[in-house]
Amino acid sequence: MNNYTEVFNARTLPYVPTYDEILKKIQNRYRKLKVKGKGWRSRKRLELERIELVYNILLSEINKVIDDAIDMNKLHPFYRELIKLLINHNEYERCINELKRSRKLLRRFFIRYRSLVKEKRINLEEVKEEERKRLIFRYLTEIKKIRREAIGRMLSTVKRKRKCLEIIKKSYIALRNIPSINADAPSIIVAGMPQVGKSTLVSKISSAKPEVAPYPFTTKSIIIGHIRIEKPYETLIQVIDTPGLLDRPLSERNKIELQAILALRHLRGIIIYLIDTSINRYYSFREQINVLKEILDAFRDKEIIVALNKIDEATQRDIDEALKQVIEIGIPRDKIFLISALHGYNVKTLLDVVLNKLLTCKC
Ligand code: GDP
Repeated sequence: MNNYTEVFNARTLPYVPTYDEILKKIQNRYRKLKVKGKGWRSRKRLELERIELVYNILLSEINKVIDDAIDMNKLHPFYRELIKLLINHNEYERCINELKRSRKLLRRFFIRYRSLVKEKRINLEEVKEEERKRLIFRYLTEIKKIRREAIGRMLSTVKRKRKCLEIIKKSYIALRNIPSINADAPSIIVAGMPQVGKSTLVSKISSAKPEVAPYPFTTKSIIIGHIRIEKPYETLIQVIDTPGLLDRPLSERNKIELQAILALRHLRGIIIYLIDTSINRYYSFREQINVLKEILDAFRDKEIIVALNKIDEATQRDIDEALKQVIEIGIPRDKIFLISALHGYNVKTLLDVVLNKLLTCKC
């Protein structure tokens, strides 16, 4: 099992300021800087403080964006795949790299201009009062000129990256739709057509209150419940209900939707595919098994368990028919369970088998 050092959490994506917001912050603080004391030395100190202030704010704003940037290499493939669908990743990386270069440039400007100010000398020895005033005035004017140039160059370094800041900001907005699934935790993915009993099963088998999370390119939210097991070792298992994802033929999906769905392949886990066998079933067995076939095909390396649900409202003939059709497409009998999610019939047996497989499989 791979251990990815970074777990992606859309909720902790950083706030990316616009250039104008950074500028405003600088202007607010800049205005508050006042000369402390009297004499030309104090004024010189003020000019240095101004340069430092602008540098520090620009640096800290840029640092925040760079430090919190997404490191794709450290991300779990599940997230990597979804992110690549949602944003122009090359553009994003280019912008982060451009900000890194701007940071270097900023530092260079800061060091250069700070020493230009610091090293600027004035010789007032044996100078008469009138001349002294004139020299100080000229000296301070030159220092101001350096300060203005310093600030101008630092600001325009970041201003040139305003497009990049926008691109990064927009990327994070697009990524808000990524669900906070722990991609490394073992998962039970509950699939099946609408109304077959997916959410009933999820609520029956998971302990904690399920979380509702968005999923890219679907209008419905996925639901994540949890099962905590103590033995043989403490493990938190995710139960994921996937309305809008694995609930209709994959062949009807467009390319992006399909890729988003296929990202689920990267989760460690087992799929439980529910089939409604009740007399009032909304979809025929043919339709339901057709979706199952497509899932089997697309998730070839995943273990798939089939649960014939609502047997409390099914005829024996229908149950036998469903069983026959599922076996016909290659699912072995020991991977097919007859259950009633609503009444809890056989749910524990199903769960025990699934948990046992989850803890022992390399899925
Ligand atoms: P989903 O759309 O797949 O999530 O389906 P739901 O869990 O919302 O269930 C759809 C309907 O089927 C609800 O009215 C459930 O109460 C009902 N249902 C779910 N499981 C069973 C079952 O085992 N027996 C019966 N009779 N009804 C069930």
